[in-house]
Amino acid sequence: MGLPKIVVLGAGFGGLMTVRGLQKQLNHQEAEITLVNLNPYHYVTTQLHEPAAGTLDPDHTRVALESLINRDKVRLIQDKVTGFDPKEKVVRLAGTDEPLAYDYLVFALGAHTETFGTKGVFENALLINNLNSVRMIREHIEYNFARYQASDVKNEDLLKIVIGGAGFTSIEFVGELVDRLPYLCKEFDIPREKVQLINIEAAPTVMPGFDKELVDYAVNYLSGKGVNFRIGTPIQEITEDGVILKGGEEVKAATVVWNCGVRGNALLEESGLETMRGRIKVDEFLRAPGYEDLFIIGDNSLVFNNEERPYPPTAQMAMQQGQHLAKNMVAMLRGGEMKPYRYAPKGTVASLGRNVGIGTIGNNNKKVFGRKASLIKKLIDARWFFILGGFSLALKKAKF
Ligand code: FAD
Ligand code: NAD
Repeated sequence: MGLPKIVVLGAGFGGLMTVRGLQKQLNHQEAEITLVNLNPYHYVTTQLHEPAAGTLDPDHTRVALESLINRDKVRLIQDKVTGFDPKEKVVRLAGTDEPLAYDYLVFALGAHTETFGTKGVFENALLINNLNSVRMIREHIEYNFARYQASDVKNEDLLKIVIGGAGFTSIEFVGELVDRLPYLCKEFDIPREKVQLINIEAAPTVMPGFDKELVDYAVNYLSGKGVNFRIGTPIQEITEDGVILKGGEEVKAATVVWNCGVRGNALLEESGLETMRGRIKVDEFLRAPGYEDLFIIGDNSLVFNNEERPYPPTAQMAMQQGQHLAKNMVAMLRGGEMKPYRYAPKGTVASLGRNVGIGTIGNNNKKVFGRKASLIKKLIDARWFFILGGFSLALKKAKF
């Protein structure tokens, strides 16, 4: 009998933590480990709002997988996963007709965009999904500023940016935009007051469910920088000209960025597994119900707290799961016992541009604001690079 085949799909927070845990703990004779990822690099999803606004070079948020993987122990396949069959135990890839067989599969392909049935999202909005989608946002804004200046007839809609949803992704993106705009306006000789940032949220508050004092801080700070918040106003449709709100009002804008939430990866539903908003309610060992060989982690897993409410999908969760899963898989392969997974939240910190932030930290949810929160956020980012590549990578990539 050959070695057990472990296939890990996705080199994001969850997948990388799993693979790196496995390559560290297993020796060559214990398993065949394969990592499949779309790109030859890992990008840091938690930083994507920065290259989207143009405050960070996209290259800064990525690291070559070659430098993160021990090729003596891990086979790296750069390809697009197009499906998998949990009964046949095979993965399908875009670049080959040959199915990839596994004994154990770790599904860590990250989230997909949630539209809630809103028309025109994929046709007319820009998305903060991956390195290329955020490159498009930066370029789109710059292109429209250039178009505005190049034309004799001034179309003010070219200078309007609508941001759909006021959850964490949007608030962090808006924070970066307010930092970037003064430079952008100077570059294109456009008066700052001509540019409109409109953040539209369906719920009655910005960052629904988050601490009110911190939300008020964020709203006051960003409003003071010229952001127009429209709360309690669901976007019903996105058109080529802008957005249509519930009730019929049209807000024209050349740039619409949709950050209205995420759902599980469509490949899970397509595989016939039972999902909730595309995600799998995993068991205590992070397995899909009914499958002892299929592990689901990161944004695709649904983990509930003591009050039976699902935890939000975060990098923090994905990292903890990946680390835990690697240990469990090692134990399993060596005939030992797996340990149940328990999420240990360490807090939530959001940036509002380069030097300001908000957050709660520790078990007692201590609130942090302003520069202190911003510094903590930067330390969290630096910690990830440290985990990936030690001090040298952290020093190269950290920004303070
Ligand atoms: P990801 O890290 O998204 O990785 C998925 C990987 O799979 C990627 O490498 C992708 O290229 C690859 N992939 C996808 N589809 C395919 C395919 N078909 N074939 C092959 N490869 C594929 N969480 C926090 O805890 N703290 C934060 O501060 C924070 N900030 C965020 C800021 C932004 C702007 C965003 C968008 C999210 C933020 N999050 C944050 C959430 C966090 O990024 C996600 O929860 C986390 O990345 C999920 O990890 P994952 O491993 O499930 O997926
Ligand atoms: P989200 O689900 O947290 O927020 C989406 C927002 O869009 C919600 O406030 C929702 O009410 C709103 N919305 C939904 N439909 C709408 C519509 N039709 N019109 C207007 N508004 C609408 O999604 P997100 O902000 O993309 O975050 C995704 C995940 O990533 C979350 O789990 C979040 O916690 C995590 N995240 C964390 C951080 C951080 O910790 N700093 C940063 C970014 C994202």
